[in-house]
Amino acid sequence: MFGMGKKKPEPAKAATPAAPGVATAMPAASTIKRGPMNGMMQDWKLTVDKVIEHAYLNHGHQEIVTRTVEGPIVRSTYNDLYNRARQCSNALLADGVQKGDRIATLAWNTTRHIETWYGTMCIGAVLHTLNPRLFPEQIAWIINHAEDTHVFYDITFQPIIEAIKDKVPTVKHFIVLTDAAHRPQSAMTNLRTYEEYIAGKSTDVTWGDFDENTACGLCYTSGTTGDPKGVLYSHRSNVLHTLIGMQYDAIGIGARDTVLPVVPMFHANAWGIAFSAPAVGAKLVLPGAKMDGESIYELLDGEKVSFTAAVPTVWLMLLQYLEATGKQLPILNKVVIGGSAVPERILRAFEENYGVEVIHAWGMTEMSPLGSLGSMTTPVLSQDRETIVKYKLKQGRTPFGVEMKVVDDAGKTLPRDGKSAGRLVVRGPAIAKSYFKNAGGNILDNDGFFDTGDVAHLDELGYMQITDRAKDVIKSGGEWISSIDIENFAVGHPAVANAAAIGLPHPKWDERPLLIVQLKPGATATKEDMLNYLNGKIAKWWMPDDVAFVDNIPLGATGKINKLALRATFKDYKLPTIQAAE
Ligand code: AMP
Repeated sequence: MFGMGKKKPEPAKAATPAAPGVATAMPAASTIKRGPMNGMMQDWKLTVDKVIEHAYLNHGHQEIVTRTVEGPIVRSTYNDLYNRARQCSNALLADGVQKGDRIATLAWNTTRHIETWYGTMCIGAVLHTLNPRLFPEQIAWIINHAEDTHVFYDITFQPIIEAIKDKVPTVKHFIVLTDAAHRPQSAMTNLRTYEEYIAGKSTDVTWGDFDENTACGLCYTSGTTGDPKGVLYSHRSNVLHTLIGMQYDAIGIGARDTVLPVVPMFHANAWGIAFSAPAVGAKLVLPGAKMDGESIYELLDGEKVSFTAAVPTVWLMLLQYLEATGKQLPILNKVVIGGSAVPERILRAFEENYGVEVIHAWGMTEMSPLGSLGSMTTPVLSQDRETIVKYKLKQGRTPFGVEMKVVDDAGKTLPRDGKSAGRLVVRGPAIAKSYFKNAGGNILDNDGFFDTGDVAHLDELGYMQITDRAKDVIKSGGEWISSIDIENFAVGHPAVANAAAIGLPHPKWDERPLLIVQLKPGATATKEDMLNYLNGKIAKWWMPDDVAFVDNIPLGATGKINKLALRATFKDYKLPTIQAAE
């Protein structure tokens, strides 16, 4: 530290002569320079071009395998990705794209899609992922709100583009992610194929010459209430989120891994895997448009995938395929499951029938999205199997970089006792502080915490368990019933394909649960069967007052049960217990 100030400190007068070889230049106490001081380390900007450049320099020959939307499985490398992303940057710059411009994608997980990500972000423009599962009008609304100038999209989505093209005036360029041979039939004049778009473009381009707080990505929340809201990630937040995800107890992948992100890049950034896989140099396998059990199995087996991630519905399809064919998963090591609660039967099937470790993850778009992951700790692993399963079904612990607490309605922090449920609030460098264009105003409390809208409890080991969405909690007699718990047990019944619990008005209890069941094709079960099955698994006062069977439980655009639609369908439904109460 000495020598940092401009003036050299005066040598202190030594009381006794110093021993030979011992420095004597100690400043007198009154002359020591005091006050805040900056560290003297390099100013290495946290921008995502560093991620792909690292992969290019250190893992350039590592493979990327894509099931293309056109059909065949193709192979490329991080070298190719890096160079083609640079060509994409030059194509965008040739169109006049400037820093801060919004460039949209409507695309599956493919290498071309990742090229557009880095091609856009690394020149300081903002990559905006659109969710193709939304209705065309919603997609048009979101494009207009974001004021996108370009839309890159897969051939699968030509009908959506035709439906919205005249309703999105800011979009000047439509680029279909294919080659000339697969160009879709269209009368659109401002449409180009991606291969033609980047062909002949130079790989020479300046990346990353901007501040690390520059906006990098934009993703709109599912918007089950009100208009969708844009979460605007920065380069810094994306790089920090990548480091958070790379922790051993988080995504925890390495250069030896072959990683299959089934979770779409258009939903919560594929949980950051398009950044963390190149950052560690893992082989990347991209599933394109096919997520059925057989197609996913073909990639898992053929590419020797060691790590994969998706929402529970994808794994249900894979497990059904494995059961039907008797196939095994000898290489797959770890599967991260999140987006909605992991049903116990999926957890047990992976771990007990196929020897694959399940990590239950929780997060949200506003959190980039990783919030917690259920990796094990020594105190848990020293317990019996049934206790371990209980922990694995919780949503997990926060990695370093996410702060989490549970508060009551007055904002008071609740104890970490594994039972005091309240609002789950979070804080961290990769968590939104406001929405794009300030939609919804201030979203943080006085201490800078963001209310996730989830209801949860934390235990003394730091494991968090979601008991509900705040708006889905069933309020009965002043107490809360967890709709998620009822659903998780109900889907364990062998005849049940999917189940949802909603609260219906009740004159005595305020609300009581109705269980809505979709049976597996050809399976049968009665109300009594369902209630007998639940009996003893949940508290008596949580038992549904009635069971309704439907052909199809509606799912929203991100694959979660659409409770809004179910509430609308059952709004006039009268519970049989009402008469008894009156
Ligand atoms: P989204 O922003 O669309 O990813 O939705 C985030 C919401 O999904 C969270 O606030 C939770 O309500 C729900 N969610 C995500 N992961 C889980 C999980 N593992 N268990 C239960 N709910 C989850």
